[in-house]
Amino acid sequence: MSSDIGFIGLGNMGFPMMRRLVSAGHRVVVFDTRDDVVGDATNLGALAATSVGEVAHRTETVMASLPTPQVSNAVALDVAAGTRVRRFVDLSTIGGEAAQRNHDVLAARGIAALDSPVSGGVRGAEAGTLALMVSGARSEFEFLTDVFGALGNAIFVSEKPGAAQTMKLINNLMAAATLAATAEVVVMGVKAGLDPEVIIDVLNAGSGATHASRDKFPRAVLPRTFDFGFATGLMAKDVRLYLDEAETLSTPIEVAEVVARIWETTQTEAGPASDFTSVVLPMEKAAGVTVGTEKTDCATS
Ligand code: NAD
Repeated sequence: MSSDIGFIGLGNMGFPMMRRLVSAGHRVVVFDTRDDVVGDATNLGALAATSVGEVAHRTETVMASLPTPQVSNAVALDVAAGTRVRRFVDLSTIGGEAAQRNHDVLAARGIAALDSPVSGGVRGAEAGTLALMVSGARSEFEFLTDVFGALGNAIFVSEKPGAAQTMKLINNLMAAATLAATAEVVVMGVKAGLDPEVIIDVLNAGSGATHASRDKFPRAVLPRTFDFGFATGLMAKDVRLYLDEAETLSTPIEVAEVVARIWETTQTEAGPASDFTSVVLPMEKAAGVTVGTEKTDCATS
């Protein structure tokens, strides 16, 4: 069943998700603070709005894919003032505390809030194969079966506000730790004289395989394109959010603290806008080696 959907935040993840909703036949009203991406969306058949408030005046289901908890909270406040909106689905990674704030602000206006952080990266967003972790009212989750189906596989986590955010932080701490660990061991192997492609092949054939060795290294590190599609600053934010929640719960954070330090170093040395596969760069610098080789264009060489 097609329906009207508002979509706020058309970045690396939001844009391809919006495109899938348009392709599935939904009438999608979009807003982003960047005019260029709004223009690109209207070229695909989406309808442009000029503010968050306008989206919430025009659609009953408002989805958002935003960079930080602060931006999500500000957008949720504007959504809460909408006259037509009935539910707000936040696809961003913002942590449990910010999600709870959104639930409170929206519930005061009779608007349902669903946390729906996603995993699977830009490729998953393009292909409609994301894992969506959802918390909030189960009836709202069921109401949105078709919408979630256009984006990937939606897993209901809990009715508790923010629970899916906690799940997402757990997932991303694992992703951050395994990417950092893979970078560290490959740098060590290269300095010892091993071929990085062989290191990755062997890891993938054995018990050291992770998403980092299977996908991130072959696609974005070994060819030195550093273009996987997730910013270092966003990964550093997710690790910080994990640490905040674990500290509140008084659970061990020895691994998470080391991982956080590695991502802060990457952010300082490569910049927050760099791709998160740049985590290998400070390690290469410290070791005095380079992992992989840039692909050259045969036609121009
Ligand atoms: P991004 O920075 O590429 O996109 C964010 C978009 O939000 C930008 O287009 C920006 O202009 C827009 N925006 C910022 N403030 C706004 C506002 N006030 N109103 C409207 N639009 C606004 O980020 P992304 O990589 O697409 O990630 C979005 C969210 O998804 C983040 O929370 C991130 O942690 C999470 N996430 C990203 C990935 C990934 O691989 N990129 C994977 C899973 C989850």
